[in-house]
Amino acid sequence: MHSQQATAGPIERDSTVFDVIIAGCGPTGAMLAAELRLHDVRVLVLEKETEPASFARIVGLHVRSLELMAMRGLLDRILPHGRRRPAAGFFAAIPKPAPKGLDSAYAYLLGIPQPVIVHLLEEHAIERGAQVRRGRAVAAFEQDDEGVTVELADGERLRARYLVGCDGGRSTVRKQLGVGFPGEPARNETLMGEMEVGVPQEEIAARTAGMRDIHQRFWIRPFGEGVYSVVVPAEGISDRAEPPTLDDFQRQLRSIAGTDFGVHSPRWMSRFGDATRLAERYRVGRVLLAGDAAHIHPPLGGQGLNLGVQDAFNLGWKLAAQILGWAPESLLDTYQAERHPVAEDVLDNTRAQTELSATGPGPQAVRRLLTELMDFDEVNRHLIEKITGIGIRYDFGDGPDLLGRRLRDIDVKQGNLYGLLHRGRGLLLDRTGRLTVGGWADRVDHLADPTAGLDVPCVLLRPDGHVAWIGDDQQDLDAHLSRWFGTAGISRGAGGPMG
Ligand SMILES: Cc1cc2nc3c(=O)[nH]c(=O)nc-3n(C[C@H](O)[C@H](O)[C@H](O)COP(=O)(O)OP(=O)(O)OC[C@H]3O[C@@H](n4cnc5c(N)ncnc54)[C@H](O)[C@@H]3O)c2cc1C
Repeated sequence: MHSQQATAGPIERDSTVFDVIIAGCGPTGAMLAAELRLHDVRVLVLEKETEPASFARIVGLHVRSLELMAMRGLLDRILPHGRRRPAAGFFAAIPKPAPKGLDSAYAYLLGIPQPVIVHLLEEHAIERGAQVRRGRAVAAFEQDDEGVTVELADGERLRARYLVGCDGGRSTVRKQLGVGFPGEPARNETLMGEMEVGVPQEEIAARTAGMRDIHQRFWIRPFGEGVYSVVVPAEGISDRAEPPTLDDFQRQLRSIAGTDFGVHSPRWMSRFGDATRLAERYRVGRVLLAGDAAHIHPPLGGQGLNLGVQDAFNLGWKLAAQILGWAPESLLDTYQAERHPVAEDVLDNTRAQTELSATGPGPQAVRRLLTELMDFDEVNRHLIEKITGIGIRYDFGDGPDLLGRRLRDIDVKQGNLYGLLHRGRGLLLDRTGRLTVGGWADRVDHLADPTAGLDVPCVLLRPDGHVAWIGDDQQDLDAHLSRWFGTAGISRGAGGPMG
């Protein structure tokens, strides 16, 4: 791409320029767009596909993602589309009950198809004022001191202050940025699809009983309305470039189960690998990466979408602050500092789950041992907190254990805490009634509530619900307000000076 710019003059004065262009309208891109719109940031989402993807590949929303939805007032909209299940049995599919007293007001899994989540998040982003253009693929970009010029596949050029690649595992943005994506290539490929069957459920159950112990990458399960979810290994199906066919499924089923169960009328069929990779950097100048563009791993435990949505939640308010002009010097860099280790941990737990799912005698012995250990509630809890994202503690320096963790939803005098976070602002939750947010009141709300269900005097919450400060001293609070929310009294609207 040539270095010619699509705009003349300073970007901030040009109303045709966007603050942020997001490449990709998957769950990560849609969530990020909605978060940025909470702060009036001008957002354009460019999506390669003309229609939303229709395949329902995910387990559902885990506890932390449900909490995020509650924090933005989205949960009531999402709940009717899903089915609640216990927050249990996710780690390597080892069947154990949910640990006792999981510390959340939303301690369940919401089983909900990915297309429904994407649709709801996209709809939410658009309602909040994001522009979404479908059938528009990002092909190239170039950044300079003022912003990023983005070139689409059809040659059109657009200009924004920042570009965020939420364009999935094969991310064009990541590749063009030259950011390394080290890790392991796929060792196993799997076919997955939804289709109808030609035999009764009882026959399937009888034929497949016990087979999951021998074939970890095999199942045929009713999905509702006569449709079955079918998973088979892809070994022997050679052409990776071509989408799998019904014939491929039939052949694999026959070789594993001795029958193809009369599968027919597929709704969708896909193939995925267990490649595990993590971007070396999440930010280069004005270009950032989030979601699968930054990390890929096998779908064990159902974490990828949740991880991406949580990246977006972490990034949204920081990028908005940068654009609005109040971000402290290094705020935007805390995105990588906080989220890269979280992804590293998810990659590691999926590596461990992959080993535990192997059928050799060694891995199976380790699996049996872990199955025993999970009878200890602490072990079970640790693993479930990992998978559901509620065990995350960002490194905010020395302090009580709660510092850097997310605060669970609690009762406050105005209802519930998360109900006060819908606008994506910071919040001082103050049981002393003596403190003030002073010159940060344009960015941080203050709730004085001696009855709040906290066992500390006050907490300062970031817009993502993580605890940024605990204490009761005004001077100390002011120092932390400025650490996270910049200089008092200098907030400007989007379209103001460059971030
Ligand atoms: C079989 C399977 C099961 C899974 N199960 C679960 C589960 O249970 N739970 C879970 O949390 N996760 C699960 N995942 C992972 C989850 O699907 C992904 O992590 C999630 O889709 C990532 O979201 P994303 O928005 O980052 O990327 P994507 O969903 O890949 O979205 C990227 C978007 O960018 C678009 N795009 C690509 N290139 C461009 C371009 N150049 N310009 C513009 N747009 C572009 C794409 O069309 C797409 O819409 C599963 C994955 C698989 C394969």
